[in-house]
Amino acid sequence: MFTGGFSFYEGLKDLGCKIIPTGTMSTEMQLFYMQKLKATVLISSPSHVMHLYEKAKELKIDVKKLSIRIIRVGSELLTETMRKKIKVAWRENISVTQDYGMTETLGPGLGMECIYENGMHLNTNYYFELVDPINKLPTENDIGELVVTTIYSDCFPLIRYATSDLVKISKEKCSCGSTSPRIVKFLGRTDDMLKVKGVKIFVSQIEDFLFIHPYFNHQYEIVISKENYKDILTINIEYKEDLLNVSKEKITNYKIELEQEFKNTFGITSQINIVDNKTIKPTSGKIIRVKDLRRLKISN
Ligand SMILES: [Zn+2]
Repeated sequence: MFTGGFSFYEGLKDLGCKIIPTGTMSTEMQLFYMQKLKATVLISSPSHVMHLYEKAKELKIDVKKLSIRIIRVGSELLTETMRKKIKVAWRENISVTQDYGMTETLGPGLGMECIYENGMHLNTNYYFELVDPINKLPTENDIGELVVTTIYSDCFPLIRYATSDLVKISKEKCSCGSTSPRIVKFLGRTDDMLKVKGVKIFVSQIEDFLFIHPYFNHQYEIVISKENYKDILTINIEYKEDLLNVSKEKITNYKIELEQEFKNTFGITSQINIVDNKTIKPTSGKIIRVKDLRRLKISN
């Protein structure tokens, strides 16, 4: 069950907007309705917005000529690069803003970006705290784990729910005039545990697995993404010396061997890329070792 659409539906209805629910339609039909009914606002995920653009190109539809003036995204992290990409594709002067929410808090609406596109204003219908992710005590820093209390949720009340999202907060007044704190950056997940393809794995276990092999240095990153609703686990690990000095065949063999061993150890498949040394930027903590691209979902 997907909670994402409901909050938007109810909110937009209250604003008096005409809503065209095309979530279950094919991309072609979505584009058709966008053209036919001259939709002005598009609500979707960043990847789908780009998919719509690609599809439109195929169908010889110029998205720049559509009536869309606002693109609202959620469900995935919107990076600044992605925002730029969307604007280049759809139109420079289009407003591309994002939402933050989670199923536990009944979908989107925890944080909302205004037209100034500089971070998500925290919704004052919730009570937020920023805690130190280790000792869970309130922190005065602008970086911490976001903790939420749902003040007005009668059916699913949460008290001090730790989201595991490590965020950077800005309390500076926004150009829109609002003084509500904004999430200006997501820095990762506070927990070491990953759930991939339904299997729980700890980053430390993966690290142990990788470091047994002597032909790597200690730089690696774990990337978890989603494709066709399936989790994809990718591990990039640096080879200890310049790859130029090693035969391609040797690297390919290492890769195959590692992937098989990984499957035997953890019971799930992974894609392991052996990359050149000094490819991965050094990090000081495990948190940044993991790029969970599935996170920040409206639902899931
Ligand atoms: Zn603002």
